[in-house]
Amino acid sequence: MLPRRTFLRRAAAMAAVLGLDPARLLRAADPTAAPISQPLSSGARFKSGHMLATWNHGIASNEEGWRQMQAGGTALDAVVEGTAVVESDPTGSSVGLGGRPDRDGKVTLDACVMNAAGDAGGVCFLEDIEHPVRVARAVMEDTPHVLLAGQGARDFAIAKGFKTRDLLTEDSRKAWEEWKKSAEYKPIINIENHDTIGMLAQDLEGNLAGACTTSGLAFKLRGRVGDSPIIGAGLFVDNEVGACTATGLGEAVMKTLGSFLVVELMRQGASPAEACLEATQRIAARMPVEDLQVGYLAMDISGRAGAHAIHGGFNYARTLGQRTQLIDAPSLD
Ligand code: ASP
Repeated sequence: MLPRRTFLRRAAAMAAVLGLDPARLLRAADPTAAPISQPLSSGARFKSGHMLATWNHGIASNEEGWRQMQAGGTALDAVVEGTAVVESDPTGSSVGLGGRPDRDGKVTLDACVMNAAGDAGGVCFLEDIEHPVRVARAVMEDTPHVLLAGQGARDFAIAKGFKTRDLLTEDSRKAWEEWKKSAEYKPIINIENHDTIGMLAQDLEGNLAGACTTSGLAFKLRGRVGDSPIIGAGLFVDNEVGACTATGLGEAVMKTLGSFLVVELMRQGASPAEACLEATQRIAARMPVEDLQVGYLAMDISGRAGAHAIHGGFNYARTLGQRTQLIDAPSLD
């Protein structure tokens, strides 16, 4: 082990070579270097456009996000309009239009957003509105509240000019009819049926934002709300550290406050990949995970990305500047 003084000197020299703020590198490498509650320095903030979005549909979200940034939009514009693209896609069976209904055949939607200032907005148990993510943004920007639910959220959306429409597609209705044939109550976890969109962006100014939108578990109990609209569970953004979003069984994410956990681990020096791994391990240590899937996706302010899932099969789209890749996340399997 190096004496602490030598360690500090070498770390500072390395930081200078890498063009990083030495304090930040020290904090990342040596937990005793500074109190963990202090924000990371913004010296190494990435400013070339960075986006992450869950699942294959994340490609379309990131493409729209990039268009927003090119037109001068912020990270918030990128994530809201990026995820709205998938909300309108009738083939996405766990988000927006075409989302699978609850046990009673009604499509109910959850979404939230968070911006670089730490403001947050969300809606849950929202019916008949195609773009819950845009309503979540309106809750954040136009009310003093964070979360509106059910009929109140619907009334708010209509008052803001959102149009109502039936979100139950013919495909979704057929899937629900089929599901009803089985007498057992068992909502379907999105291991196969995965389109919930969580999206994180860092814009050309280096600021972060995130959005998460879903129709939740297929055939859930009426009134069930998952992690996706809950700040700290399905999404968390700290503009001095990084951002995280979750997909999969919301109950497991809520019991461990996963996205907040990931951001706090990054604040303490973990990379996005290490933090996502730790958050999945936290779930596995607390409950049986054979039948549940959760995936975490995170970025930090220096442009690093990482993800981890309990089981294989979770993938995400990463866009850096104009380049987009679809990446398979590692898993605990
Ligand atoms: N997390 C969502 C929920 O539990 C579902 C999903 O991501 O597939 O409502």
